[in-house]
Amino acid sequence: GLAAGIPAVLLVSAAGGWWLTGLVIRPVEDTLRRLEQFAADASHELRNPLMAIQSNCAVAIKYPEQMRPGDRQKFLRIEDAARQLLTLVQELLMLARTGEGIAAPEPVDLAHLVRELAAEYRPRTCERDLQLDLAIEASPASWQVSGKAVQLRCLLANLIENAVKFTPEGGSIAIRLSREPREILVQVSDTGVGIVPADLPHVFDRFWRADRSRHRQGGSGLGLAIAHGIAQAHGGTLDARSVPEHGSTFTVRLPAVHESRRQGKNGGPGL
Ligand code: ADP
Repeated sequence: GLAAGIPAVLLVSAAGGWWLTGLVIRPVEDTLRRLEQFAADASHELRNPLMAIQSNCAVAIKYPEQMRPGDRQKFLRIEDAARQLLTLVQELLMLARTGEGIAAPEPVDLAHLVRELAAEYRPRTCERDLQLDLAIEASPASWQVSGKAVQLRCLLANLIENAVKFTPEGGSIAIRLSREPREILVQVSDTGVGIVPADLPHVFDRFWRADRSRHRQGGSGLGLAIAHGIAQAHGGTLDARSVPEHGSTFTVRLPAVHESRRQGKNGGPGL
């Protein structure tokens, strides 16, 4: 608030010359922080009533004999709307959380994570007649990064989900894990509809969706903004390359945890 802004403004004015910058930047930062907090609070508050609506509808739909004719259709529509809202709220909450950074990082084995995800998505890809390949580079080095497993899972799941969504039947999807001296790369490629060059810079914007994907069911346009936020919070990057009508490749780069750093954590000299 205002009180919190005063010391910073005084400080920069004392430094001389920068007082105007301080006056302008500090309130903008404050506003952004308050907005982020608001998004986090609002999503949290919205989640419980939405879950109540959704679960009540689910129960009503499950026992149709207790309903009047025509009620079932209404409940199905309510449940569908509630499910969409709940997803949106969960996504907003996740987005707000990525802005908080990683509080207590834990070791995450990316090879283990991509194997799990590939196994989870296999039934979906089979159903859509998509080939799903998992390629883990032969490497003696570890696939360990430092961060939050739930968030990294969400990042990669969003990329795989999109690959499935935007690839017509008969196409293929590849998940590749490779290593560079300081970074671990996870690439999710597809042979799908692709993204035109003019759209490519916007794919990570909040709520952005290509014109033709707007008409499709589902999808809020938040998935890639969340994925990007998670990569950044982990000190990494996420970028996209695409050839329209041929496919897209999303590349995540995350700082690898080196042996020396791990020893350092246990009391050794480390880095
Ligand atoms: P959503 O998938 O919910 O629409 P995203 O933020 O995940 O939102 O993606 C934003 C948009 O980027 C999508 O609507 C789509 O237009 C485009 N996009 C994302 N991934 C792909 C992909 N693998 N192939 C083609 N277009 C994609």
